Amino acid sequence: CITDSQLSLKKFIKNMLKSFENRDGWIWMNGKIIPWQDANSHVISQGLHYASAVFEGERAYNGKIFKSEEHTKRFFKSAEIIGMEIPFTHDQINKAKYELINKMNYKNCYVRPLAWRGGDQMGLSTGKSNINVAIAVWDDWATYFKIEDQKAGLRLITSPWKRPAPDTAPYEAKASGPYIICTLSKEFAEKKGYHDALMLDYRGYVAEGTGANIFFIKDNNIHTPIPDCFLNGITRQTVIEMATNQGFKITEKHLMPDEIGNYDEAFLTGTAAEITPIKSIDDFKYNTGDNTTTFKFMNDFSDMVKNAS
Ligand code: PMP
Repeated sequence: CITDSQLSLKKFIKNMLKSFENRDGWIWMNGKIIPWQDANSHVISQGLHYASAVFEGERAYNGKIFKSEEHTKRFFKSAEIIGMEIPFTHDQINKAKYELINKMNYKNCYVRPLAWRGGDQMGLSTGKSNINVAIAVWDDWATYFKIEDQKAGLRLITSPWKRPAPDTAPYEAKASGPYIICTLSKEFAEKKGYHDALMLDYRGYVAEGTGANIFFIKDNNIHTPIPDCFLNGITRQTVIEMATNQGFKITEKHLMPDEIGNYDEAFLTGTAAEITPIKSIDDFKYNTGDNTTTFKFMNDFSDMVKNAS
């Protein structure tokens, strides 16, 4: 006879082998939970053609979404910034996330709310656009980077693509459109054999990774770029608070690329990436391993998210 855990392992492996489109399970879409494979949108939609969409990335640990309220707030704020009115309340989205996690029977998973302009109207006008909202959850991003890379540290290369100026793209919104810059940077790095890219901003300052913020450590000092043209990540804010409480001196500053060799350690932060050590950026090498401050932060962060009430 097959036990429950064997059954869920079987389901996990079966889903891992499938594309994201062909999975079994459930998706919350426009107010209802529907079978995963029925959660479709027509090819004629403003979301698809013009990336007129916003999304979130969240994680549940032990059945509880870390900073769920903050993510929901950012979801609505992102929508507002791009002029999109989400036809649900904060409460409805908060409840929907948990309803779906329970329906999927997950304790630890990634949560992806998405809102996009549909096909009621084509072209760039938005006056008559319809807004769709969906939430999906999946459990195969236990770590965003491969577990062995997360342990050993990532190799990064500087991307030729830059974070744009605040009057070129709405940097405080987690809006789909600007993510093409991240996709291009990630593709550039992976084609050259690196794990990720470091993006500079339009002024040439160090900005962030392709889907995560960046920190540098020298002794008791931690430096991180000022989020004045990229997302001020929820994980970034959490880590700043955690490190400050532990007595580290955190400075947010504009960093030029030739300064990043002055540090002993570097790491990325993000909901998907959590805290991931960096082994090198271009020719600069950083300390990694059990004796680093980054390693201690990884453990502290892991304890924090699991115990968050
Ligand atoms: N920057 C970018 C470009 C991202 O995609 C993310 C992930 N949402 C972050 C930073 C980190 O944000 P958070 O910690 O809120 O996940």
